[in-house]
Amino acid sequence: MPLPQDYESYVSRWEEKIGAFIEFDPRRFPAGESGSGGSALAGLPFAVKDNIAVKGFSLSCGSKLLEQLKAPYTATAVQKLMDCGAAPVGKTNLDEFGMGSSTDNSGIKRTNNPWDTERVPGGSSGGSAAAVAAGLAPFALGSDTGGSVRQPAAFCGVVGLKPSYGAVSRYGLVAYASSLEGIGVLADSVSRCREVFAAIRGADPMDQTSRDAPAAAPPLSPKTPANRTIAVLSPEAVARAIAENAGTGEGSSSLEAAAQAAELEPEVRRGFELAKAGLAELGYTLAEVELPSLKYGVPAYYTIATAEASANLARFDGIRYGARPAWAENPDDLIDKAREAGFGAEVKLRILLGTFVLRSGFQDRYYLRAQRIRAGILREFEALLGDSEYQDHGAARCGAILLPVFPTRAFGRGKGSLSPFAQKAADLYTCCANLAGLPALSFPASVEGGLPVGVQLIGRAFAEGTLLDIAGDWEKSHPVPHPAGYRAFWS
Ligand code: GLN
Repeated sequence: MPLPQDYESYVSRWEEKIGAFIEFDPRRFPAGESGSGGSALAGLPFAVKDNIAVKGFSLSCGSKLLEQLKAPYTATAVQKLMDCGAAPVGKTNLDEFGMGSSTDNSGIKRTNNPWDTERVPGGSSGGSAAAVAAGLAPFALGSDTGGSVRQPAAFCGVVGLKPSYGAVSRYGLVAYASSLEGIGVLADSVSRCREVFAAIRGADPMDQTSRDAPAAAPPLSPKTPANRTIAVLSPEAVARAIAENAGTGEGSSSLEAAAQAAELEPEVRRGFELAKAGLAELGYTLAEVELPSLKYGVPAYYTIATAEASANLARFDGIRYGARPAWAENPDDLIDKAREAGFGAEVKLRILLGTFVLRSGFQDRYYLRAQRIRAGILREFEALLGDSEYQDHGAARCGAILLPVFPTRAFGRGKGSLSPFAQKAADLYTCCANLAGLPALSFPASVEGGLPVGVQLIGRAFAEGTLLDIAGDWEKSHPVPHPAGYRAFWS
């Protein structure tokens, strides 16, 4: 199926304003005939975050160091979509190596939010979210290590799915924090998101952590969720949990940061309340719950993520990968120069942090403690949702947990921005699903003051179907909103 006639001019008009793509070439891969193999994805273009390999396209990871790198092979998730007849049209901008919440940490270019070009699209999959929100592609792939699919989806007003850990092959995804991350979906509707996830999931011999869903997991075909109880984790419950432990002593400053970060701006609160009321109206039973260890999520997340990043990024040395300096005294000097020139400030900070928490003699204090918090968070989730292997049938109290995605709507730059520290503290609503390996879905709840507000559902491992069913119910009466100038090429 050829692309719509004025598609390319539509894209270039938007691209002048938002800059979602690092590379755009819709003619490189012809889309399959509509209906070939019967896939609903046949003939559709899609965008791919520039840390996921598509043979021949750029694989910059948003880094100066890899600006010239072309992918020598194609990621499994991308290949599966191409096998359905969909066609990758380009590579989207991101925070360098996926490290950030704004896409402003990209070493390549700046991306703006299609709803307000003075604001960020969120991150790190900001280019993918902006491309879908502006109608440049009906769906895109992103990656989510601590919120990087869900948060930009919320900022740009699209649907964002972070699948269960291992549900989608990571083959071809450039590693940031291997035990936390996965490839996720950004889409212009819940049903599209479901189709894309159905196409890309499943065990892959190229990724030994990938697997098929257990037989007892909820099916992916739309149906009425069996368990219609939704647990609600309100920001008040999070704040209460923090207050219990606040005070002086070790860790009190990080708890204070968590307390501040838990607070929602009024517009986000309104969107959250609207979602609660709307779901109750649809017949769901809402039950307030507490997740006491959520408040330790951010410190545990940044300890584990930076530890893994410091190891994963060691390969970018100007020898195996990356731009090489013109001249160096010796191999060590070459590596120093390549990394000094190639990495941005945030990446350097995280490598330093990661080597700090892993240094000999201190692992008990940081890394092992973070792993214990991680196990505690998983236990709390499983007590509400049920275990990952589906052995405790009927024991789960609720089908999903409803919570905010991020405390603010898309923020601005300069004075209207969030400090790098506040941005990290604000990951508290998203990073716990990654620590626990659970699926999480962000979908638009409302538009407040001209900017979209998203809410999030977290489910039992491999229960993506349940999350999509609930969001699908919601979407029937609350279709995905669009920014001014949006044109729907694909219904
Ligand atoms: N904001 C988080 C971070 O900077 C999320 C990153 C991600 O999910 N890739 O680590």
